[in-house]
Amino acid sequence: MNYPIYLDNNATTSCDKRVVAEMLPYFSEDFGNASSGNHIFGWKAEEAVETARNQIAKLINANPNEIVFTSGATEANNLALKGIFESYSNKGNHIITTNIEHKSVLDTCKYLEKNGAEVTYLEVDKEGMIDLEILEKSIKPTTILIAMMYANNEIGTIHPIETIGKIAKKHDVLFFSDAVQAVGKIPVDVKKQGIDLMSLTAHKFHGPKGIGALYIHKNKPSVTILPQIIGGGHERNLRSGTLNVPGIVGFGKACEICLSEIDANSKKMLLLRNYLEDELLKIDSVFINGNISNRLPNVSNLTFKNIDGERLLRMVNKEIAVSSGSACSSVSQKPSYVLKALGISDDNAFSSIRFGLSRFTTESEIETAIKIVGETVEKLRQ
Ligand SMILES: *Cc1c(COP(=O)(O)O)cnc(C)c1O
Repeated sequence: MNYPIYLDNNATTSCDKRVVAEMLPYFSEDFGNASSGNHIFGWKAEEAVETARNQIAKLINANPNEIVFTSGATEANNLALKGIFESYSNKGNHIITTNIEHKSVLDTCKYLEKNGAEVTYLEVDKEGMIDLEILEKSIKPTTILIAMMYANNEIGTIHPIETIGKIAKKHDVLFFSDAVQAVGKIPVDVKKQGIDLMSLTAHKFHGPKGIGALYIHKNKPSVTILPQIIGGGHERNLRSGTLNVPGIVGFGKACEICLSEIDANSKKMLLLRNYLEDELLKIDSVFINGNISNRLPNVSNLTFKNIDGERLLRMVNKEIAVSSGSACSSVSQKPSYVLKALGISDDNAFSSIRFGLSRFTTESEIETAIKIVGETVEKLRQ
């Protein structure tokens, strides 16, 4: 076995070797600029980009012309929120979101508030779920957007996306979802689920870092959005800049692999996650954070009561790479705002660990993790 065992797959994942192989030619022999329309270098690059666009669209049941490439989900979230806010200012300035969104959504909402937006941050219950009645009651004539993540990156809870899509449609409000953690792990269908805008990023499902996309619903009535990066008019004027062709090729391949293996991989991750969780729950005073049934198959967020989580992480990090929450907040020394939103005390939030599995996680890795975590918790409690 290779140490440390990587169980931090909600922060990022390894790039699948099949993805790397697909990307390699586009760094060297096929290095063309996808916008160079006068020669074969450009044509080859463009063809590769369009193949990838098809692969990505297929995974989420979108049309290829509804995919806009970005540098990742942080940029896609900025584009969605700022782009809609600026484009729909005639209709209103009100955005509804939740207090457990990723920082790239929350910080963008804060920024928009300084620029005249009114933002409602819906609270979640102790299991991380929103109240759909309160959501519907929060909609007013000035509401332009509901922004709700598909699945949470710290606790893995899945929002009732299809119902939220119906509520948005009924009130003629756009629905945007940050689906970074869901895509590739559970079936995502933008048409069936009534999603108007959706962000995704390749590095969370075994693609390369630095490439992502925003899906923008195109069929009538089409969603109009103002670009945030201009200069050249790439991506139908919605996001200028030379396309990251190798990244896009890898992104497409990662989607193709996920689509063909999604059932088998989710089942495998679910079995191993449940095994890990069942065994760790046998330790005294350990409990699960977040709704147990509406949850991604690869995440387990556990509180080890009266244990200093940071110390636990330091003691195990030669053997297991896990984290206490999101990668972005792990430098801040503050308790996780997601766990706080569930009503968890600071002490218990500091005693919580997120385990994130991937399709490459093996049974023997999980067995080792169970043993090491168990022994370390016992040591710390003595
Ligand atoms: C990782 C993550 C992001 C950020 O994606 P990048 O491509 O790394 O910018 C956004 N939202 C969620 C839920 C994430 O887990």
